Amino acid sequence: MTPQLPDNLDRNACAALDGEDPLAEFRDRFLSDGTTIYLDGNSMGRLPKAALPRLQEMAEHEWGTILVRGWTESGWMESPLRVGDRIAQVVGASPGEVLVADTTSVGLFRLMTSVLRARPQRRVIVTEWSNFPTDLYIAQGVAELVGCEVRAVERDSLRDALDSDTALLMLTEVDFRTGARHDMGALTEAAHAAGALVLWDLSHSAGAVEIQLNHHHVDLAVGCGYKYLNGGPGSPAFLHVATALQEELHNPIQGWLGHDNPFLFDSEYRRASGIRGWMSGSPPVLAIGALAVGIDLQLEAGAPAVGAKAGLLTEVFMRLARSRLGPLGFEVATPAEAERRGAQVSLRHTDGLAIVRAVGDRGVVGDFRPPDLCRFGLAPLYTRFVDLWDAVERIADVVESGTNRLAQYREEVAIP
Ligand SMILES: *Cc1c(COP(=O)(O)O)cnc(C)c1O
Repeated sequence: MTPQLPDNLDRNACAALDGEDPLAEFRDRFLSDGTTIYLDGNSMGRLPKAALPRLQEMAEHEWGTILVRGWTESGWMESPLRVGDRIAQVVGASPGEVLVADTTSVGLFRLMTSVLRARPQRRVIVTEWSNFPTDLYIAQGVAELVGCEVRAVERDSLRDALDSDTALLMLTEVDFRTGARHDMGALTEAAHAAGALVLWDLSHSAGAVEIQLNHHHVDLAVGCGYKYLNGGPGSPAFLHVATALQEELHNPIQGWLGHDNPFLFDSEYRRASGIRGWMSGSPPVLAIGALAVGIDLQLEAGAPAVGAKAGLLTEVFMRLARSRLGPLGFEVATPAEAERRGAQVSLRHTDGLAIVRAVGDRGVVGDFRPPDLCRFGLAPLYTRFVDLWDAVERIADVVESGTNRLAQYREEVAIP
């Protein structure tokens, strides 16, 4: 599937890759000003054009006219389950295993708490010290709440950290700093061998690479709606609970919509079976409507094609970065092996923050993560290969045009 890259990777070669790209037509399905090279879809995905009429229709017709009957007639009540089932297809899970709800942070809280409560004889959550901060903060809070320990170790020590005390291995599949991708299958197996469950955060994976939750026997997962899934600002997150665990693990936030029959208005909580039991309160219907548009685009493109293009985009960007930017003090921080990275390339540079700002003013949007990482998210649905060529040229130009130009940005970004 992966085409051979030519030795002479120039702008024409990039244009040729665009010509052969089976996903090329998806670019036009997103709103764009036609000039900005947007390499920050790993922070906030672009707006799918079809979301505009959909939001208009939901507001005007469903909210404006149907009003309260919309909960049933417009399918609002079922939307977290319906869209969850579509996300399940994106991440290789089964229908009835995924729910759209809350934020990734809250989903992490709910899942971690449920595991620690279900397995009282095991009191440790194993994770990676460089995990995304919210994952660590939530784990620390859960540990305080339920009385357990967070064992946060270096990436290389994860397997050794698993033991008979471990309740849960909680990891983010694709690292937000470097784009490094864990071996989900091997680590899940290692956790299971120690008698622990696994919880994967797919925030930087869903919509970026191909994910096979069921194939790897993953127990639990969460992920973000507003990054590569293009659900928009405030987009809800999703949570996944494998069918085999749905009896054992219980939603710690027992709200009325997770009740077996909410409209009896019973005084006693009776948990709904299946993923519905993970509902708590009223779903964010308009936001779920927007997210559904992004999910439909992912399904139309197909996860294998999305993952293959991510591999090729990152390969091209890293090759261009090594040859053109290496001599200018940049170092590629993203793994060279395609299976070991997401759809992101990070470049280390001592002047990283000033460079990202300066390049941003020249129409190339990336972002910066301390201490020295320039991050570029190469969202497969709307990034072209020529964009990568042009971005690398502009980055080079900013650095080559000299210290004077960067000095102004350095002052702006100076951290006291
Ligand atoms: C973006 C991201 C989140 C976001 O959490 P929210 O609660 O949805 O803001 C969580 N975890 C990881 C790994 C992320 O990259």
